Amino acid sequence: MKLLLIVPHPDDEVYGAGGTIMEFVEAGHRVGLVTLTRGEKGRTLGLADGPEALAALREGELRACLDELGVHEHRHLGYPDGGLRDIPVEELAEVAREAMETLRPEIVLTFPPNGSNGHPDHVATHRAVRLAWEALPEPRPELWYYAGPLPENEALHAEYLPPNVTRDVSPFLTRKLRAIACHRSQALSTVDFFRRFAERIPTETFHRAAPPNEKAASSE
Ligand SMILES: [Zn+2]
Repeated sequence: MKLLLIVPHPDDEVYGAGGTIMEFVEAGHRVGLVTLTRGEKGRTLGLADGPEALAALREGELRACLDELGVHEHRHLGYPDGGLRDIPVEELAEVAREAMETLRPEIVLTFPPNGSNGHPDHVATHRAVRLAWEALPEPRPELWYYAGPLPENEALHAEYLPPNVTRDVSPFLTRKLRAIACHRSQALSTVDFFRRFAERIPTETFHRAAPPNEKAASSE
C-alpha cells in the first residue's frame, strides 16, 4: 500500500489530501484510510435530528467521498467524536499499529502535534499514531503530517511544523471539489476551509517527519 491515512473525523481525509490520494490511485497504488469516529458531534445544518442520525448521514457522505477518491481500504471505528483525549492513548495506538502492520503502507499520514487547528481529537490522533509508529520494527513507513501556513492562533505555534512536501494536485481539482462536496452536512467547514486555505485546494502541503528531509521535497 502506498498511503495510509489515520484521522479522527469523516472529512479529515479530503481537504488536505484528496488530490494526493487520487494521484496515487490513478498511478495504480493502493490507498487506505482509518477514520476513528463517526463524526456525530459535527454541525447538522438541520439535516439530521441528533447525533445518531448525523453519524448515519455522515457515513453515507464519507462513502460517497471515498468512492470519488478511489480509496481501496477503509476502516471506520466508533470512538466518541470530541472524546478521543479520554480514550487511553495506548488503545488508539493499538488501532493504528494494527492497521499499519496489516496494510504495510509506504507512507502514513496524520495530523501534526498541534492537531493543525488544536482540535483535541486531532491532537489525540497524532499522539496515538506517533506512538504506534515509533514502536514499529524497521524499516518503518514514512511519517507525514498535514501542514499549512503558520496558524494565526499563537497557542499553536510552539508545536507548529512547516510544510516540506508540496504537491501540485491541480489536474485533480475538479474531482477533488466533487469529493469535498460529498460531505454535504459539513458545508460550513468547507467554506471556512476555502476562505482560509484556498491555496491548499490545488496544492497540498505536508510535513514529512520521517525520514527527515535532506532538502525541501517537491512532488515525487
Ligand atoms: Zn477533524
